[in-house]
Amino acid sequence: MAKVIGIDLGTTNSAVAVVDAGFPMLLANQDGKRLTPSVVHFDTASHPSAIGEEAARMGLLEPAQTVYSVKRFMGRRFEEVTQQEKEVHYPLNGSKGQPIKVALKDRCMLPEEVAAEILKSLKKTAEIALECSIEKAVITVPAYFNDAQRQATMEAGRLAGLQVERIINEPTAAALAYGLNKLKDQARIAVYDLGGGTFDITILELNEGVFRVLSTQGNTCLGGDDLDQAILDHFLQIIGKEVELDVVLEEQGALPRLREAAQKAKIALSTQASTAVKLPFLGKDFHFNEEFTREQLEQIALPVIDRTRPHCVRAMHDAGLETVDLDQVLLVGGQTRMPLVRKRVNAYFKCSVFEETRGNVRLGDTFHTPDGPTLNTGQNPDEAVALGAAIQGAILSGEIKHMTLLDVTPLSLGIETFGGLMNVLIPRNSTIPIKAGEVFTTAVDRQEETLIHVLQGEREKAADNWSLGRFMIPFENAPKGVPRLGVQFEIDANGVLNVLARDIHTGNEQILEFKSVIDVEDATVTQMVESAVEHAMEDLESRHWIENSLKAKTLLKAVKQSVDECSDVLDAHYLASVLEASSKLEGVLARENTEKRSGDTNSLKSAIKNLDEITQELAHIQLDRMAASYLDQEQEP
Ligand code: AMP
Repeated sequence: MAKVIGIDLGTTNSAVAVVDAGFPMLLANQDGKRLTPSVVHFDTASHPSAIGEEAARMGLLEPAQTVYSVKRFMGRRFEEVTQQEKEVHYPLNGSKGQPIKVALKDRCMLPEEVAAEILKSLKKTAEIALECSIEKAVITVPAYFNDAQRQATMEAGRLAGLQVERIINEPTAAALAYGLNKLKDQARIAVYDLGGGTFDITILELNEGVFRVLSTQGNTCLGGDDLDQAILDHFLQIIGKEVELDVVLEEQGALPRLREAAQKAKIALSTQASTAVKLPFLGKDFHFNEEFTREQLEQIALPVIDRTRPHCVRAMHDAGLETVDLDQVLLVGGQTRMPLVRKRVNAYFKCSVFEETRGNVRLGDTFHTPDGPTLNTGQNPDEAVALGAAIQGAILSGEIKHMTLLDVTPLSLGIETFGGLMNVLIPRNSTIPIKAGEVFTTAVDRQEETLIHVLQGEREKAADNWSLGRFMIPFENAPKGVPRLGVQFEIDANGVLNVLARDIHTGNEQILEFKSVIDVEDATVTQMVESAVEHAMEDLESRHWIENSLKAKTLLKAVKQSVDECSDVLDAHYLASVLEASSKLEGVLARENTEKRSGDTNSLKSAIKNLDEITQELAHIQLDRMAASYLDQEQEP
């Protein structure tokens, strides 16, 4: 059975995991570390020369050639990226409407090309650890990632030589790693994810083993880095009191050393009450020696951490929930290892688990609500996402059975409608389970049955999509437009599609089941989406033409009938103008089988408009006639 690895492609750190003998586990890289900094260093010829920790070290010396936080730019256009996000140590370029690019010395790279280097290194880590070649992966993305960002992540995987079996949401992966899919039938979970550079809060609902995102909020420029900066500013203040600050700062490497020390101190204070910060020769003849306590850290950190609170409130509001409606709060992201973060999250969500304050620090507003959610700290917060991705990988490879998971429809589903067009009932990327329906009618008089042709795909014309199946549904005999046919599509948690068609008047119905419409090869999905994009203009043109030609045919038929009925009272000159407008429309319509250009649909529309306007008088004559014949009938004895 080919292994499917799970990858957490993070803004600050990335990780790779796999399920082995039924157990999910993180794989250590060549430095023996389970987290690989998401940093790529490029040499002077703009070739990737180091990934991970070594690249991060090179970043101190050659910042312009060292790319970090590239995830922020994936699948985004230049103007979509905020000025704050653009403040990185390496150059970026791009113009309005174009993707943002990393501008290396000799070449410009798309963010996904840089991310591919990180993925290649994680793939290698897995291959060395598992002693086999790895081709398939599940990669996680934030829940707020849009289609373009998800596509860019897929592309990064492809460039790294990986077949991306599935892109899944990070909070869903975390919930899987925490084993929450085994919770009671219905549960609501908040996933609080504070990493190095980003903060996300997502509210999930678990329903019979299937996760659904209820709301998601966050800040792409808020995380542990802001705490490091706040600590650094505190250190600079202390230094400034002792010596001339500029003199220290002009020393090469002083600032990066201080930043590194700030982060180390922050991490140490997650488990200790105080730490000694020692930086000999930070400036000329200046040594920085400082005892830094958790109490000091927490005072500095509190305002930064509390910037996450409004997002939590907003996410709960968007999900329409109160904190008592939540069952669990999960912690994800390295920064949530900090005790103060846990205390604050405890307070925001009024958790029932009370965390003892350690050291001398008391914040005073830690809640204890008996019926509040449980703050679940059972997993390493910076490992949970990759572990969850590996579990999803194992589900896909068949290594783990009897487990369902939130999924989305990879392609749109619908039925063929008048003129051979596809009418979408469930759009692509809809979360399953899902139910959707529409009411249709007949286009022909006295139609006794109609064909339900079930389609999957992104193209406008039915013939360009995949046919999943067809079935006939009988109708009560009635004039066109009178019958009402209800069509309902329902996809269950296992991806099984049930199509129900019902004659609303008679209640006569047919149901057809289609086995998993979800398990479509990613490459095939990509092909379909690409062809939809490639043919978007001509497809739209076809749709416009077909819709207007149906209108034209109906109008021509109605005009012919009116002319036949009223020919005796029509002025010859007026009749000639009606016939001329009709034949002009027929002439345009005759181009149906030739290759159409956009001008043809416009000609069709104006020929319809012309005939419609000219026949207004005819419509009035016919109405008068109908009214007169009705009155005659009334007066008959
Ligand atoms: P992530 O993006 O999830 O890898 O998180 C990285 C952030 O977590 C960085 O800002 C780290 O400094 C921070 N971090 C990692 N471990 C700890 C720890 N034990 N205590 C406090 N912060 C930590």
